[in-house]
Amino acid sequence: MGKGTPAMGKMGSKKTHVPCRRCGKHAYNIRKGACASCGYGKTAKWRSYNWAKTH
Ligand SMILES: [Zn+2]
Repeated sequence: MGKGTPAMGKMGSKKTHVPCRRCGKHAYNIRKGACASCGYGKTAKWRSYNWAKTH
């Protein structure tokens, strides 16, 4: 109390993305149950687009 940083709102109250088990990126959406980066949980294949030169 008194000194120090004030509580910064809902900072870190809820997380939507956690590290993905497949690509390792912090892009696995818990609510969607799918990775935004590689598509883990959404597709068995790696999420890839021709405009995204991944592999
Ligand atoms: Zn992923």
